[in-house]
Amino acid sequence: MTTNFDTKNPPKQKLIDSCVHCGFCLSTCPSYRVIGKEMDSPRGRIYLMDAINKGEATIDEATSPHFDSCLGCLACVTTCPSGVQYDKLIAATRPQVERNQPRNLSDRLIRTLIFNLFPYPNRLRALLPSLWLYQKSGIQQVIRNSKILDKVSPRLAAMESILPQVTPESLQDKLPTIIPAQGETRYRVGVILGCVQRLFFSSVNEATVRVLTANGCEVIIPKSQGCCAALPAHQGQEIQAQQLARQMIDSFADTNVDAIIINAAGCGHTLKEYGHILEDDPEYRTKAQEFADQVKDVQEFLSSIKLTTELSPLSDQELKIVYQDACHLLHGQKISLQPRQLLRKIPGITLKEPIDAALCCGSAGIYNMLQPEVANELGQQKVTNLINTGADIIASPNPGCALQITKHLRFKDKPPMVIHPVELLDYSIRGVKLKLP
Ligand code: SF4
Ligand code: SF4
Repeated sequence: MTTNFDTKNPPKQKLIDSCVHCGFCLSTCPSYRVIGKEMDSPRGRIYLMDAINKGEATIDEATSPHFDSCLGCLACVTTCPSGVQYDKLIAATRPQVERNQPRNLSDRLIRTLIFNLFPYPNRLRALLPSLWLYQKSGIQQVIRNSKILDKVSPRLAAMESILPQVTPESLQDKLPTIIPAQGETRYRVGVILGCVQRLFFSSVNEATVRVLTANGCEVIIPKSQGCCAALPAHQGQEIQAQQLARQMIDSFADTNVDAIIINAAGCGHTLKEYGHILEDDPEYRTKAQEFADQVKDVQEFLSSIKLTTELSPLSDQELKIVYQDACHLLHGQKISLQPRQLLRKIPGITLKEPIDAALCCGSAGIYNMLQPEVANELGQQKVTNLINTGADIIASPNPGCALQITKHLRFKDKPPMVIHPVELLDYSIRGVKLKLP
């Protein structure tokens, strides 16, 4: 058999063969639901992988767009009755596409910009004063109203459309390296700050630290930590992902923590995959798996320990909250009960469930910048389903989802607030009452 994949970790034929082509996964696949073509479904992509591996097709300009159109949401992994490991298949295929299919100029430019900017918080932070001026001066509104970016580059327009509000808090990390537990120290935990999270959602990191310390955790935040590698890993940028993963592992070496806590779903999934990302690295292989074994989503961790804090109502009235399942928590880490259990502990809360809770919102890392049309359709569907629950608050456990949902709520009448679940817990612990719009 002559394969048309290169020799570096191609998708395994055994995994490809585990698909029995039943098609159960099609209806839960967001790219298939929007694009409607077999080749943009999990089954279609597995057919393509099979054909390429058997030398019947090549990685080329006809086949690679079908791999690019996959959001990597992993809904198909949850749905598949045959246990097909599509996550492993697509993770092996993406680097093959990156190595073997040259991208056109506009694709190269936008990807170069993204991969050289987003995984480096210090570079991103250097841009913040200009972005602040752009927003405060009113230029942003003029640009948005004119829709000029849509004409020049829909991808640049998509990037601009999710730009969060730059605040003075974005300009510096305020959290110290060691934060003592309140009362008796029950655990010593590390906290990962993320890239987008630390710059644009520093309030989520601060809330995470307050909730942890209030519940007896000493928190360690190594200053040398960088990006978790989720962004390049999801896009098949193997070498960059491995470098960032090694840096993260080194940052937490000798911290002697019981767990490493992350509050962003996409980052958490990648951090738990370090064993695979560095499996070919003899120096880091074992360290990577040990690191991954310590990683816990903050909600996963909090629901595994006994909360010692009192919780108070967030409003004088009954508050309706809808929890938004982030794909990399629900499908990637199988975490769905824990966030709901935690939210239900807050007095005066009614938890609502949306239609199609397991369907991706279209954010998918940088998918909403690279494939804006499909992402917009999914974003609209998600927001409609969340609003239809009648909730006052959307609790979103991932910064990418929060940005995507906020973008699509922009023109809605009386949109619900979008808040990370850990912020709600923090408010409840501190007795803060929410002011609803
Ligand atoms: S991936 Fe699973 S659900 Fe989808 S066609 Fe193959 S066997 Fe069926
Ligand atoms: S990962 Fe998501 S988008 Fe990709 S094939 Fe599976 S269900 Fe479809």
